[in-house]
Formats: sequence, C-alpha cells, structure tokens
Amino acid sequence: MTILVKSVREKRLIDEIFQLAKENKPCYYLMKDISKFVEDKYGLDTIITHIYRKLSEQHKFYGKDTTRVSPHQLFHSFDIRSRIFNNDEIKEIVDYVNTKYNATNYYKTTCMAHEVIKDGKSFGMHFHCQYLTKD
Ligand SMILES: [Zn+2]
Repeated sequence: MTILVKSVREKRLIDEIFQLAKENKPCYYLMKDISKFVEDKYGLDTIITHIYRKLSEQHKFYGKDTTRVSPHQLFHSFDIRSRIFNNDEIKEIVDYVNTKYNATNYYKTTCMAHEVIKDGKSFGMHFHCQYLTKD
C-alpha cells in the first residue's frame, strides 16, 4: 500500500497527512483503506492531491465574502487523483467507499468523483473523500 503525493506542494501534503492522522484518525484510516483497495485491485498507487485548505485559499476560490466552509478546512477530507482510472474503476472505488462508510459518516456521501471548474479553468478530475464519524 503506497500513498504518494505528486505536487509542487509535496512537502506541505506530507505534513498534512501526519496532521490528518492527529486531527481526524478515522479520515486518515479511510485514506489508508482506499490506498490498500486500489493497490490490491488495480496494482496502482494512490496519489493525494489536496488535504487542508486555509481560509485564505477558500476565499481565493469562492470569494472573500463566502460563508461556505469546506470540509477541507476542518481536516474532514482529502482528494485523490482519478485520471489514472477508467470509468468502471472510478465507479468501483466510489461504490466501495460509500457502501462501507456512509452509514457511519456525519456527511451523507463519503466519496465522489468530480471535476472542479472555476472561471473556465479545470482543477482536474478527482475523488473528493470526506469522513467524520457520527459519534
Ligand atoms: Zn475535495
């Protein structure tokens, strides 16, 4: 099982993985579970692209007046690169995670594959995973 970070923000992401393990252990275990599933099933590494979002980054994305709070600001979520998977594999991963975790999750959906587009610019297809245990 290998969790990789491939980004100009590599150092920051590594620090954030350790911080995620401290702040929200179930979410960290979810990350490990997905990476084991992906390795066992497809022989692929899991590439983490985003974990923590600062308030200034949320403002940059949604505007300074936004009251919207992202689960990324709370260590409730992380993103995984999805473009290395085909559509069937993406569906299998999403189904695996949601079947296993939705019932115990404060959030309705644990994993979704989506593309974020802002001002015509794509921020890439990815899995957005969010997990906060109900109790
Ligand atoms: Zn996300």
